[in-house]
Amino acid sequence: MNSTTTFLSSTSSYIETQWQAMFEGRNEALVTLALLFISHEIIYFARCIPYLIADQIPSLQKYKIQQKTIQNTAENQWKVFRYVLLSHFVFELPMIVGFHPVAVYFGMAISSVPFPPLSKMAFQIFLFFVFEDFFHYWAHRGLHYGPFYKHIHKLHHEWSAPFGLAAEYAHPIEVMILGTGTIAGPLMWCYATGDLHLITTLTWMTLRLFQAVEAHSGYDFPWSTHNWLPGWSGAEHHDYHHMAFTNNFSTSFRWWDHIFGTNKKYIKYKERKAAEAKAKKAL
Ligand SMILES: [Zn+2]
Ligand SMILES: [Zn+2]
Repeated sequence: MNSTTTFLSSTSSYIETQWQAMFEGRNEALVTLALLFISHEIIYFARCIPYLIADQIPSLQKYKIQQKTIQNTAENQWKVFRYVLLSHFVFELPMIVGFHPVAVYFGMAISSVPFPPLSKMAFQIFLFFVFEDFFHYWAHRGLHYGPFYKHIHKLHHEWSAPFGLAAEYAHPIEVMILGTGTIAGPLMWCYATGDLHLITTLTWMTLRLFQAVEAHSGYDFPWSTHNWLPGWSGAEHHDYHHMAFTNNFSTSFRWWDHIFGTNKKYIKYKERKAAEAKAKKAL
């Protein structure tokens, strides 16, 4: 066993012991509810902090995707923070309450240990990313249809130059529809194979939150995910959707927009920007 393997296995057994202790002698549904809700709050808001710090650092402003439209003001961030927090308690909490009975019905392992091997978790999470992206692509396109846009999705588009906190700034119906894409993958997988652990679902939800906040951050740093992970959408992709109110409907990957031709305006825009930058350099 090399040192990395030893470290991973001792870390994993430590987390397994804590996991077991967390459930022992307690109501499994209540522990699951608290775990999901509290971790959602911590992960979502903590993931926004680096971007809030970046807003205060002048030398990082060159990485802001939209230089002309400035919406990440303290006033807007405060407004969005209050709305999102309220939405978490009023709309998302009841949905999380329903999670445990549904997950148990579909056969998800909740409090049991050992955890699945990392390779299995990674494979399942990759499948959930692919499913969510496909679901989100079509649901999001549907939300751009006239009346749906007007009554539901317009709220999320209040920000044409979004910032991290705005990721979950959305109408409750939209939260429900798009949230389905996040949870339906694990439930369907569980139903089909009977082989899924809550720790995998929790890790998937964490990564999905990371993806959503990054996509709305408004920053394209050299270290941003799409700059080292081929095909990843990231802020550079989703920011255009908020700026232009069209194209780039997917969440995690760029392939569906490419296959269904909903990235044509975005590509033209990119070409125009590149030509402008080239002409500026030549001056
Ligand atoms: Zn949209
Ligand atoms: Zn968005």
